Amino acid sequence: MNNIIDGKSMALALTEDLKRELSLLRESFDICPKMAAFSFNHNSASDIYIKVQSKLAEYLEIEYQLFKLGQGYDLDELKQKFYDLNGDSSLDGVIIMRPLEESVDYRSLLLNMDPAKDIEGVHPLNLGNLISSEAALIPPTAGAVIHILDSCIENYVGAEVVVVGHSYIAGKPLVMLLADRLATTTLCHIGTSKVDMLEDHVRRADILIVATGRPGLIKGNWIKDGATVIDVGINKVGADIVGDVEFEEAKKRASHITPVPAGVGPVTTVMLMKNLLLALKKRCNIKK
Ligand code: NAP
Repeated sequence: MNNIIDGKSMALALTEDLKRELSLLRESFDICPKMAAFSFNHNSASDIYIKVQSKLAEYLEIEYQLFKLGQGYDLDELKQKFYDLNGDSSLDGVIIMRPLEESVDYRSLLLNMDPAKDIEGVHPLNLGNLISSEAALIPPTAGAVIHILDSCIENYVGAEVVVVGHSYIAGKPLVMLLADRLATTTLCHIGTSKVDMLEDHVRRADILIVATGRPGLIKGNWIKDGATVIDVGINKVGADIVGDVEFEEAKKRASHITPVPAGVGPVTTVMLMKNLLLALKKRCNIKK
């Protein structure tokens, strides 16, 4: 039985849809999609994300402006830069690359960003919209997980979903999106592990979503037979990239499972570009 979810193929299909939609819009309207990425942390993870994003942007004919900043950036100058970008009517989206150094005042930067250009969906206004089910700009990681789940879950109603990790790009928005689908969702985090209850929760999950950045945190033999397992984690262990779930053992029990790499990751990058398209349509008042 092939129960491995092919995130690469899903991402390719989404990319082609997006390319078609963008070219139709180009034919009908005078549009030139443009985004800006700010990078503070020049480590290999950030550099890989930038490479992947800029390659996809090039394929989709989206202008990708990269601002590489060093440690000693001036916060006031940067806030001014954000104000300038907010007022730039040719720019549709802004993204602050993570992971970030502790010294970067992320919240302060976010609060200076126009929420309409926040294609990561992390501005407090966009996260707030998520709670009131009005979200247009959903964090791409959460959007990717929902897209993948929608392709293999027919009915969420009453399903036991366990989400491990409560970050604002994955776990927290996912709880809201799953509530909208009437799933019964449990959110686990470090507190759950501290009282040694993680295994108990994971064992009863029909749908398990893990986003912790802790390689092998979820043991393969905890997975319920027939569960759907979505592993968001991307961890470098020696020369390998692995997820947060023990894949080989989990694969024997799951009905569907995402691999790492080539699972959630490729879909997430396309979701970012989908958000850019949404922001562009809103800016240009394009309804369709
Ligand atoms: P994050 O902000 O560090 O959040 C990690 C979460 O996991 C936190 O809620 C943390 O709880 C929880 N956690 C940590 N150790 C735990 C434990 N032992 N038991 C239970 N919960 C634990 O990380 P993130 O940005 O969400 O990223 C998570 C992972 O996903 C990383 O590997 C990252 O590289 C990857 N990622 C993948 C994609 C993709 O598209 N596939 C996109 C983004 C990120 P506390 O905060 O309470 O400690």
